[in-house]
Amino acid sequence: MKGKIIIDRDICKGCGYCIKACQAKLISLDKGFNALGHHPAAAFMSNNCNGCGLCAIVCPDIAIEVFREG
Ligand code: SF4
Ligand code: SF4
Repeated sequence: MKGKIIIDRDICKGCGYCIKACQAKLISLDKGFNALGHHPAAAFMSNNCNGCGLCAIVCPDIAIEVFREG
């Protein structure tokens, strides 16, 4: 199964929970700031995302949407 995530960078508070949750290490903090003044999470999508959804489950601000295919 392959997956893809989209992060709503302007509601992310940069807590980093999703970064720890992703075993494929596809998420890191952006160097720039978002509308709230935080460094938001940013995803580097590749074939390594399996759509497990752990990043979205741990996000306290429901900023991550997961899409699965296959
Ligand atoms: S869905 Fe799973 S593999 Fe994909 S970015 Fe989120 S935690 Fe990582
Ligand atoms: S868990 Fe949610 S709020 Fe925290 S860094 Fe990730 S996307 Fe942002």
